[in-house]
Amino acid sequence: MHDLIIIGAGPAGLTAALYAGRFRMDTLVFESLSAGGQILLSPSIDNYPGFPEGLSTDELISRFKKQAEEAGIAIESKEVLTVEQISDNFKVMTSEGNFEAKSLIIATGAMPKRLDVKGEQKFTGRGVSYCGTCDGPLFRNKEIVVIGGGDRAIEDALFLTGYASKVSIIHRRNELRASGILVEKAKRDPKIHFILESIVEEILGIDKVEAVRIKNVKTNAQTDVSCQGVFIFVGIKPNTDFLKNLLDSDDFGFIITDQEMRASKAGVFACGDCRKKSLYQVVTACGEGAAAADSAYKYIINKR
Ligand code: NAP
Repeated sequence: MHDLIIIGAGPAGLTAALYAGRFRMDTLVFESLSAGGQILLSPSIDNYPGFPEGLSTDELISRFKKQAEEAGIAIESKEVLTVEQISDNFKVMTSEGNFEAKSLIIATGAMPKRLDVKGEQKFTGRGVSYCGTCDGPLFRNKEIVVIGGGDRAIEDALFLTGYASKVSIIHRRNELRASGILVEKAKRDPKIHFILESIVEEILGIDKVEAVRIKNVKTNAQTDVSCQGVFIFVGIKPNTDFLKNLLDSDDFGFIITDQEMRASKAGVFACGDCRKKSLYQVVTACGEGAAAADSAYKYIINKR
């Protein structure tokens, strides 16, 4: 029986691991892929304090991982299938066996939401992408559209100008949701064009993407915008389906916790992008990871 199992090794899970290691808790950390999580979909990070010149996300994650490992925690590559409560302990079922612990930290993050329009599924991997860092190099000197007006959309649009000849940002409102500093940068970039108050109705093509059909929400006028790539950034969906209603969550599946990261079952804590909150940032994920490990530690001490 372990003290703690941390599920997920993005910034929240890795920070929780670092603190659990320093508390000398007997801890396992499971990650279905390699450590990193959603942050690796972005090429770099400019708003992590202490790095005014920005930092590649690969570099940041490898530093987080090294620090957790130096605190005595190993990150194991195992996909968690589900979790069960057994009296006041927890059984974590993975693709490679079952493990038991007195407490759990859920740090499974989130993944990009689908736009749910005709052609999206058909052309995923054939022009439709959810990751600029992964697929940007495939669109050298091509025209692309970016859908969404949040931080991810604008950040990735800026990154994609390094490859594409033209980047059109299509957003459903007149105002962008992204932070001012990103919007200012995008407005200054000669390769970036804005198509506002417009929604994408369909992604068109025969074998690969050739255009998107958009509708102006004010005039209802339809236009086809020629492009070879479509990058979709319309928000995030939490990776919490595997919990099968073990914990209270909101209508979208984001886990509800209190300020100490305690979820609705005693001994379970949640942190990072899988948690219901108002600010989805690496810096908040790290703070929540530390708080979750601290709460788990106090929970275990009180149980002894
Ligand atoms: P987000 O902030 O939720 O923005 C989603 C964008 O997609 C919004 O502009 C939204 O429009 C639009 N949208 C949603 N559903 C749509 C639909 N069906 N059709 C058309 N447009 C749609 O999501 P995100 O940009 O993926 O970022 C996720 C979280 O991570 C955010 O909290 C973000 O701040 C954070 N993040 C931060 C950074 C950073 O600080 N460096 C980088 C990346 C992500 P409306 O504006 O009209 O709602």
